[in-house]
Amino acid sequence: MAVKPKLIKERIPTPEVPVEERVKSFVEVNLGYDFASALKEAERCIQCPPEYAPCIKGCPVHINIPGFLKALRENPDNPDEAVKNALRVIWNDNTLPAVTGRVCPQEEQCEAPCVMGKVGDPINIGKLERFVADYARKHGIEEELLREFMANGDGTKGRVAVVGSGPAGLTCAGELAKMGYEVTVFEALHRPGGVLIYGIPEFRLPKEILDKEIAKLRELGVEIKLDHIVGKTVTLEELLGEYDAVFIGTGAGTPKLLNIPGILLDRIYTANEFLTRINLMKAYLFPEYDEPIAVGEKTIVIGAGNTAMDAARSALRLGTEVTIAYRRGREDMTARIEEIHHAEEEGVKFEFFLNPVEFIGDEEGRVKAVKFEKMRPLEERDRKGKRKIVGTGEYVTLEADTVIIAIGLEPNRIISEEATGLKTNPDGTLVVDENLMTSIPGVFAGGDAIRGEATVILAMGDGKRAAKAIDAYIRRKKANA
Ligand SMILES: Cc1cc2nc3c(=O)[nH]c(=O)nc-3n(C[C@H](O)[C@H](O)[C@H](O)COP(=O)(O)OP(=O)(O)OC[C@H]3O[C@@H](n4cnc5c(N)ncnc54)[C@H](O)[C@@H]3O)c2cc1C
Ligand code: SF4
Repeated sequence: MAVKPKLIKERIPTPEVPVEERVKSFVEVNLGYDFASALKEAERCIQCPPEYAPCIKGCPVHINIPGFLKALRENPDNPDEAVKNALRVIWNDNTLPAVTGRVCPQEEQCEAPCVMGKVGDPINIGKLERFVADYARKHGIEEELLREFMANGDGTKGRVAVVGSGPAGLTCAGELAKMGYEVTVFEALHRPGGVLIYGIPEFRLPKEILDKEIAKLRELGVEIKLDHIVGKTVTLEELLGEYDAVFIGTGAGTPKLLNIPGILLDRIYTANEFLTRINLMKAYLFPEYDEPIAVGEKTIVIGAGNTAMDAARSALRLGTEVTIAYRRGREDMTARIEEIHHAEEEGVKFEFFLNPVEFIGDEEGRVKAVKFEKMRPLEERDRKGKRKIVGTGEYVTLEADTVIIAIGLEPNRIISEEATGLKTNPDGTLVVDENLMTSIPGVFAGGDAIRGEATVILAMGDGKRAAKAIDAYIRRKKANA
């Protein structure tokens, strides 16, 4: 009688930098797997058939997860070969695995439906994806594989302009280059990456890793023009005159503000400004870098999404006490569970059901406290399934000499205001059809520009879908010419 393999219910853990050490620097918190531990974790996967595997369905870009885990297991004595084969499977669907392995909310995506989760811990898919990408980069395996993935053509299938170098734009550009298109990315900032470079801090996504992922795209033939604001430096109409199609991946980088008294006091930041100074301008290394950042002794962060968590943990590393104040309850927080857990471990305090109503300043015009109304949850839920809240009429004032507002972002309107034919929804997101084409023929869009604030992997999925639609559009256009 065949012996059933034993199910290993518990996940193989990944080491982390101890709390006392990590709060003093911006070094990456999670250290990831080595080959031996990655292999052990991959061996827990029961290899559901790909046509059924729920993890594949749970991944927005449908990576063949059992396929890459199998590849890893097939060469236990040859790590280089194992990783090369695993990375080939991943790259078929996702060109930025070192990024997605780190920042995707796997607990809501691929890992949520993993069948191993029914008997124990789901497979640690994110950390295994990250391991494959990191090992390949460190051991020069990517180079070898890149040659296999080089453009099918010589860039003569057509020319495409991509606006914005966040995950949506980069993915669209990479996919089109692989198909044989000449692709130019136009980016407003002086470094590419979008939120990955200016929003998500080093301790979650080291910038060196991001730069290398982007360098790979350049090797695929993608040109990136920095310091180009489309709508100002160059117009959409000009791009349409020069290129066969345009993809807009401009994200949702405009912060929402609180319209309450005292908003203009000193030391009240938007999370975007705060994180851009720290991540993009490296203000935490001032005066080695020119950009300053000032925080006091007590910081309040308003909001409870990924942005709030990143701002809180960054502020903490600058040496201030941090409290997150959220108008709803603990279970309504939208940040990733891992990040909330890390923030708590590092000493960030949480206050729930507090809605800011006024910022109070000192005689020098600096914030010194925040007045909140206490809120109460109702049974009723809103469109997003969150409990509705109401004010109680009771107030509380908390001291703070620094405030960071992280209550959400919306798309900027530079392009839609310049190109008046581009239809937008009332919230500023671009209107697209089922092929991700906007109201202007030949202009496609994806990522946060069409969804509002969402996730890296959804932006990448849009970039990929749009690349296919752009290919079909250009072929049709050329056939009819
Ligand atoms: C602080 C923070 C933390 C986050 N953490 C996570 C996380 O852990 N996991 C996760 O999945 N998601 C996270 N998100 C959300 C995620 O980063 C976004 O959903 C994703 O980056 C959207 O990708 P995008 O390509 O659509 O846009 P973006 O990443 O916003 O990139 C848009 C790019 O377009 C450029 N641009 C804008 N306008 C123009 C113009 N007119 N001309 C030229 N260039 C222009 C911008 O400079 C930017 O580089 C986080 C977001 C923030 C702000
Ligand atoms: S659902 Fe879990 S166990 Fe099944 S193939 Fe995917 S990772 Fe493996």
